[in-house]
Amino acid sequence: MKVTVSAIKADVGGIGGHTRPSDGLLDAVRRTIKQSSDLLLDYYVGYAGDDVHIIMSHTKGTDNAQIHGLAWKAFEEGTKVAKSEGLYGAGQDLLKDSFSGNVKGMGPGVAELEFEERPNEAFTVLAADKTEPGAFNYPFYRLFVDALSNTGLIVNKSLAAGVKFNIMDVEVGEIAELSLWEDKPILEAALMYPGRYVVSSVYTKSGEPIVASSTDRLHNIAGTYVGKDDPIAIVRTQKNFPATEELGSVFNNPHYVAGNTRGSHHMPLMPVKINTAASIDFCIPIIEALVFSMHGGKFTGPFDGFSTPDWDYVREIATKKALAMRSQGFIHPATLVPAELEYAEGYKAVIEGLHKKMKPLETKQVGGNKKYEDPD
Ligand SMILES: [Mg+2]
Repeated sequence: MKVTVSAIKADVGGIGGHTRPSDGLLDAVRRTIKQSSDLLLDYYVGYAGDDVHIIMSHTKGTDNAQIHGLAWKAFEEGTKVAKSEGLYGAGQDLLKDSFSGNVKGMGPGVAELEFEERPNEAFTVLAADKTEPGAFNYPFYRLFVDALSNTGLIVNKSLAAGVKFNIMDVEVGEIAELSLWEDKPILEAALMYPGRYVVSSVYTKSGEPIVASSTDRLHNIAGTYVGKDDPIAIVRTQKNFPATEELGSVFNNPHYVAGNTRGSHHMPLMPVKINTAASIDFCIPIIEALVFSMHGGKFTGPFDGFSTPDWDYVREIATKKALAMRSQGFIHPATLVPAELEYAEGYKAVIEGLHKKMKPLETKQVGGNKKYEDPD
C-alpha cells in the first residue's frame, strides 16, 4: 500500500511572546483537521515551541492541493483564535492572503514522503523551533556519513553502500543530487554552511525515500523579518534505514545553530520532550523527536523520543553551552553575520550611524602616487 506522510507546520501565535500556542489555538487546528478527516488515514497535532505541527497520513501523494488546503485552513482557524486571544505573532507564518494550491512558499514548513508501507513501518518526525533548516546538516551528516557516530554505516548493507542526498541552495532555490561515497567532499563543502545549503531529502541508492525536510526560508519569501524558518523533517527508520536509536543519538551532542532570540544568534540545539514551550532564557533552539509506528496508514504513537532520563544530561550540556555562548553577549560568533541577521534592517539603520562618521584615511601625494603615511 502506497502511503504519504505529510508533516506541515506553522507559527500562528504564541502566549506572551514566541513561547507556545494556546490550548484554544490548538483546539481550533485539531477541530478543523477532524472535520475533514475523511481525506486522511490518520493525523496527529502537536507543537514545538510556538510552532504547531500537523502530521497526516493519506493516499493522495505529495504536494496535494486538498491536503495542503486542509492544513492551511486549520492554520487560518488557529489564527482566528490567536487574534481573539491577543496572542503574539498571530498568523505570522501565513504570508499570503489566500491559498493557491500548495503551502510551499506561503510560509508554513512542509516535509512529505510517499512510499510503499512496510509491514511494520517506523518513522520519526523531527520538529524544531528557534532555528533554521540548516540545523539538520550536522545531525544528518553524523547519521549518513560518519561511521564514528553511526556504526550502522559499517554493518548495515544498505547504508554502507552510501545514500543519495538532495541539497538545496536556499539563496537561489536550486537543488543538487549528491551520491555517496563519490561526492563526499562536495557534500561536506555544502553542509559546512547551513545558512545557504540544506538537506532537502535523502534516498537509498535504490531510490527508497528515507528523509524529507522542510527547506523554506521565510525571509526569502517575505523579503523581511517574519520569524525564523523552524524546520520539520520526517525520517524513516529500521531495516534498510538507520535504526531509530541511531537517529536519536545524532542529537546527543548539542551543536551550535543559527536562531534563538530575534533569530540573530548562535546557540546549541537542545533535544526536548514533545510539546515543549520555547525557553524564555533567550529561547534556546529546541528539537523534538516524535517516534511513530504505522500500519495501514494508522499511527501508533508518538513515543516521545527525547523523554528518557539520559536526555536530561544532554539538556544540561546544551544549557551549559548556551550559557557559555551568551557569556560573550553580542560579540560574533554569539551573533550572526549581518546578512544572516533576521533583524538585518534594524542593524543596518544603526551601523549607518558609523558609516556617516567615517572619513577617509589621511593621505599625502608622493611622486604622483597616493601613499599612506602614518600620522605619527
Ligand atoms: Mg517558531
